[in-house]
Amino acid sequence: MSVNQAGASISLVGGGLVGSLLATGLARRGFEVELFERRSDPRTRAVYGGRSINLALSVRGVHALRQLGLYQRILSGAIPMRGRMMHAVDGALTFQPYGVEDWQCIYSISRGDLNRVLLTAAEETGRVRVRFEQKLVAAQAMGPGLELEFHQETEDKTSRIYRRRVIGTDGSASVLRSAVVKANRGRCSEEPLDYGYKELAIAPNDGASGDARFKMEKHALHIWPRGNFMLIALPNFDGSFTLTLFLPHEGPVSLDKLRTPAEVREFFTKYFPDTLPLIEDLEGTFFGNPTGHMVTVKTNPWNWDSRALLLGDAAHAIVPFFGQGMNCGFEDCSELFSRMDAMLHSLTTGLANTDADAAWCSLFNAVSEIRWRNSDAIADMAVENFVEMRDRVGDRQFLNEKALEKRLQLRYPREYISKYSLVSFSRVPYTIAVEAGAAQEKFLKSVCVAGADPAQLDIEAMHGRIRDEIAPILIPFLPEGLKNGYAEVGGHS
Ligand SMILES: Cc1cc2nc3c(=O)[nH]c(=O)nc-3n(C[C@H](O)[C@H](O)[C@H](O)COP(=O)(O)OP(=O)(O)OC[C@H]3O[C@@H](n4cnc5c(N)ncnc54)[C@H](O)[C@@H]3O)c2cc1C
Repeated sequence: MSVNQAGASISLVGGGLVGSLLATGLARRGFEVELFERRSDPRTRAVYGGRSINLALSVRGVHALRQLGLYQRILSGAIPMRGRMMHAVDGALTFQPYGVEDWQCIYSISRGDLNRVLLTAAEETGRVRVRFEQKLVAAQAMGPGLELEFHQETEDKTSRIYRRRVIGTDGSASVLRSAVVKANRGRCSEEPLDYGYKELAIAPNDGASGDARFKMEKHALHIWPRGNFMLIALPNFDGSFTLTLFLPHEGPVSLDKLRTPAEVREFFTKYFPDTLPLIEDLEGTFFGNPTGHMVTVKTNPWNWDSRALLLGDAAHAIVPFFGQGMNCGFEDCSELFSRMDAMLHSLTTGLANTDADAAWCSLFNAVSEIRWRNSDAIADMAVENFVEMRDRVGDRQFLNEKALEKRLQLRYPREYISKYSLVSFSRVPYTIAVEAGAAQEKFLKSVCVAGADPAQLDIEAMHGRIRDEIAPILIPFLPEGLKNGYAEVGGHS
């Protein structure tokens, strides 16, 4: 094995959503990219059964796709979801819009289609070579780079290669992360959520076409909040819905108590009766699909000097309740690209020498430093949002606060932007969304007291407090000259 001193090449480990997007962006900047992926090619074999079939894409992800010119290609297969459709036990429906302007929606997209399109886009650059069925099993320092050990499961073979620059996008159980954390003696926490999830499906209406294929409202994320557990559904392009049941692993109402087909039917009859006529083969799908697990991973730093960097879930797995894991991973890539563009010359000149190593080290340090704080922030908000989704969305006080918040956003579009909007419809740093969210919560609790009608509260009288307590957190991060803080990414339909 020889140490590869070759030109501007970068190796990526993990060809999921973040790895395939990253490969395209690096190739467009002139790098030769080698992408190692554990699984087979998803374009030739089904690899996604029973594992979060669709995802919500929002502004941070849209921005990254736009930068690579892939936005229209992806969005042509996406469904805008304009708000939450709440399903009460008696079947009553309530719609809560996500935003205050028409463009403020999130998009339901197929994970498999997205990954396939991103892999193809990467290969189309002519600079990306994807090597499937290559599972990284170990990484260790060798000279200024890394020795990577791969296992080819189909042939039961192991190979070792040397690479100077490696980016780990190998997901929440990242092998590269273990090596990075060990080398740095860095911080890494992995906190499993004591909930699991099961995916189920609602088929399209037989023989129907257009919107008539959808058995429920198409442009909504459906939620059945039931206290400490919930069911959600996202629409798919073919008229079907993917349902996800989030339930504690153990306890009086838990996955542990759903061990027979009769128990599953009884559970759905009691808590989700309106879904029974819609779900296709409830018991078969429930037991046929694996139980998914969720974990929050926080790491710092994300790099091992100039030789390795972690991005996406490899650096920060978060629970899915803010719909931000992939969006945050795509934003990691945008951050890397914009910092790279400012120093591309020093990264590519004499790439194999120590000056270039110093430039890469400073790039990786900077990305790690800015992104770990932000990914920790969204990780915490995602856990908090679980409580909001499964419990608070049906609560009168919560609904009053949301109604008042909507009026405030319309009246003071640059001074009051809700935490949800900051996360989903802006690119304001997640850390700032946390800070603004805390100030907003305190403010709302103080004015939205029991018995107050949010439609009658005097919002003109509230302006002084909003200007003093909330706006100063946001204003430094909002683009100037626009009527609100997120118009730069608006109107992307
Ligand atoms: C139920 C659920 C719902 C979700 N909903 C949303 C949502 O609505 N919106 C959102 O933004 N995010 C959502 N997420 C999060 C989102 O799925 C992840 O954040 C996103 O997939 C991360 O992309 P990634 O490329 O970093 O990791 P992954 O998508 O996990 O890809 C990692 C890739 O690395 C490969 N790999 C792993 N180990 C190795 C190895 N040792 N060697 C080589 N290759 C390897 C894997 O095969 C895979 O292809 C959800 C997650 C779950 C579980």
